Amino acid sequence: MDKTISNILAQEILSKEDIVALLKSKGQDRRLLFKCAHDIKKKFIGNYTYYRGLVEFSNICAKDCYYCGIRKSNNNTHRYQLKDEEILKAAEFAYKEKYGSVVLQAGELFNKKHINRITKLLKKIKSLSNHELGITISLGEQTYETYKTWFDAGAHRFLLRIETSNPELYQKLHPNDSLHSYETRIKALKNLQKAGYQTGTGVMIGLPFQTIEDLADDLLFMKELDIDMCGMGPFIAHADTPLYQYKDELWPIEERFDLSLKMIAILRILMKDINIAAATALQAIDPIGREKAIKIGANIIMPNITPGSYRDDYSLYENKPCTDEEAEDCKTCLEARITISGDEIGYGQWGDSPHFKAKLALSK
Ligand code: SAH
Ligand code: SF4
Repeated sequence: MDKTISNILAQEILSKEDIVALLKSKGQDRRLLFKCAHDIKKKFIGNYTYYRGLVEFSNICAKDCYYCGIRKSNNNTHRYQLKDEEILKAAEFAYKEKYGSVVLQAGELFNKKHINRITKLLKKIKSLSNHELGITISLGEQTYETYKTWFDAGAHRFLLRIETSNPELYQKLHPNDSLHSYETRIKALKNLQKAGYQTGTGVMIGLPFQTIEDLADDLLFMKELDIDMCGMGPFIAHADTPLYQYKDELWPIEERFDLSLKMIAILRILMKDINIAAATALQAIDPIGREKAIKIGANIIMPNITPGSYRDDYSLYENKPCTDEEAEDCKTCLEARITISGDEIGYGQWGDSPHFKAKLALSK
């Protein structure tokens, strides 16, 4: 007889087949999955959600990922680059509002000027906040030396999504050249760990050609890599990208959304004490998508604190929410939303990955 969802949830270790069954669960079974993930979050993380003020400081990118609206070859984007003062002002806002941390994210650049600029900005953010603001960066594939330099300058968490752990699918989503190689991506993730970062990865859910089995493998990949943080969410086709041609072959948007919630819930069960972000892309589909994610296992939210006038231009995918708002509006709106989902906000705290801390303690 096939295992029931209750049997699966009672196991210590989940196989790929078990994960596939959870991803396919419906009705009462799906509710059981979400309840189990909710309880694990409560036990291992507590009812806390931590903020990361997100600064999308530039949409200039040297890469050409087939899914992304700010890819190099998209000539329909208005390119922008925040000035240093604007970035520092956003960081100051996060500090004053007790967000605890910021995330600096942008398109990928590899030149010396860019690398040095980031190093300086990191140091300035640290000093303007009396070394109290935590800094996550999401600045793509760089050399080990660059990762180390930025770590030493004050960044202590890094987000680099693997996008998909299936190398053949990865290839289909990127140009076939040395700038977009799966092997380099894996190496970059390992270098981040080596440089001392709390390392986060993640995938897009509902990509063209992706299967449920791929998603199960993605979760096992994260477990195997022993990541500290994860940010994953639905794939949302962007009209100015090559993958848009498959828009009618994708799983329906509601299904991509539902699978994203299930991925979060299963990851919470697989990796009980990591940080899991409620991705903004969830909100692009459901106005309370991020709150739903918080309820079933996520514990990180990244309020956008990019100055409002630039938000439209950081268009990775369509329907990106809140592009017409200012940071101040986001704050009030979010606080109410999180309290409704039953969590407290860990104001003024870094909200580091407990998983990373536990690993560190073991290695001492
Ligand atoms: N350049 C950096 C950070 C910016 S892109 C990097 O690539 O790591 C941040 C994330 O946006 C990517 O990792 C990708 O997963 C996500 N993204 C890009 N296009 C998307 C789309 N069409 N739908 C959903 N997520 C997308
Ligand atoms: Fe550039 Fe990141 Fe978009 Fe790829 S996903 S094109 S690296 S911004």
